[in-house]
Amino acid sequence: MGTPSFDIAIVGGGLAGCSAAISLANLGYQVVLFEAKAYPHHKVCGEFLSPECIHLFDELGITQQIRALHPVPICHVQITAPNGATWISKLPGEGWGISRYGLDQLLADHARLQGVEVCENTCVTQIQGGLDSQFSIETRSQSPVQVRVVIGAHGKRSNLDRALNRSFLKSHQPFIGLKNHFQGPPLSDHVALFVFPGGYCGMSEVEGGIANVCLLVRQDIFRQTADDSPANIAKFIDWMCQQNPYLDRWLSQATPMLDQWVSIGQVPFIRKQLVERDILMAGDAAGLIAPLAGDGMAMALHGGLLAAHYADRILQQPQFADVFLKNYAGDWRRNFADRMRLARALQAFMLRPNLLTPSLHLLNRIPALGDFLVRHTRGSYPIEQKGVSL
Ligand SMILES: Cc1cc2nc3c(=O)[nH]c(=O)nc-3n(C[C@H](O)[C@H](O)[C@H](O)COP(=O)(O)OP(=O)(O)OC[C@H]3O[C@@H](n4cnc5c(N)ncnc54)[C@H](O)[C@@H]3O)c2cc1C
Repeated sequence: MGTPSFDIAIVGGGLAGCSAAISLANLGYQVVLFEAKAYPHHKVCGEFLSPECIHLFDELGITQQIRALHPVPICHVQITAPNGATWISKLPGEGWGISRYGLDQLLADHARLQGVEVCENTCVTQIQGGLDSQFSIETRSQSPVQVRVVIGAHGKRSNLDRALNRSFLKSHQPFIGLKNHFQGPPLSDHVALFVFPGGYCGMSEVEGGIANVCLLVRQDIFRQTADDSPANIAKFIDWMCQQNPYLDRWLSQATPMLDQWVSIGQVPFIRKQLVERDILMAGDAAGLIAPLAGDGMAMALHGGLLAAHYADRILQQPQFADVFLKNYAGDWRRNFADRMRLARALQAFMLRPNLLTPSLHLLNRIPALGDFLVRHTRGSYPIEQKGVSL
């Protein structure tokens, strides 16, 4: 293999990939970022940014640019059961509603400004080599690129996971995600979750007076009512509204803005390897938190910074690369594993109709319990990097 043309390659230009790229470019490295799609694009996401994201944007030096997109302040979370039982809690700070269409583009533009070579429409098909030689990145559209370190930030499930033969692909993942934008009645400063048998549907406002509606549903439940064609997604939405009349009340007054629902299948909530063939995994490629926590984007931004920190250490002291890879996995777990476990348990609880209503009543009777759950399913500020300092 020839001389590396870049120090670092990042696969995936979502929040994790862009935050790692910006951080490493700011440290003076030559960074190339490959993104399979063209910006901007819609993604299945609740588009609610947890309060700690504002501090992560500060770390990246982009808070002013994000504010210029006019994110919507969100201060409360609300859960409504099919029978109308409701719990509302204040968030531990102001969250923001912002579309991925605008946010991902902004981050990629900022990465470019910092000197990152952003290759859009460039899908990585294979990664050869390792830290002891160098990596060769193969794509569908370019000749291979040689680099010294690779960060995998390619999201929940990608062709690259298959190419790397990642073990999480062996277990079936029973969830489907869907999202659309709507014009509808105001949602004030709430992120509202409506539960139905086998899933939940979240809605909150994003910039431009638009409501984002995003849901997670068990595949078997979805298949009972519909298949993946657009007409049948509409059939499923009708069924879901019949299950939760409070959700129906809002959706029946709202108009969809995208021609089709954006969808994703086999959403994986299981444990993944954090380092795969010497590649540092970040964001959803390292592990996905249950969406009800509304913390996946914060984890992706934070995880990108953590991976960047370790990429820097490996490049500074390559003789200790093995130790750094091991420490990276340990630090990742220390930072994120507790909140992921808690969110997964809460999601399982929420999807059991007989437990949901008594749980919501309990949360109403003991507000401190609700505050505890809201706090412990997200990061805190100051961003406390457990194991390393940023
Ligand atoms: C239903 C649902 C609702 C959610 N709601 C919220 C919410 O309200 N708030 C929140 O904080 N989190 C939410 N999340 C989680 C959040 O969306 C993710 O955690 C976050 O997007 C992770 O960012 P990422 O950068 O790791 O991945 P992504 O944003 O998915 O980015 C990965 C990128 O990699 C690219 N890519 C993939 N393969 C390749 C390849 N081979 N070559 C090049 N590029 C590639 C993709 O095109 C993509 O742009 C939700 C998740 C789901 C499923």
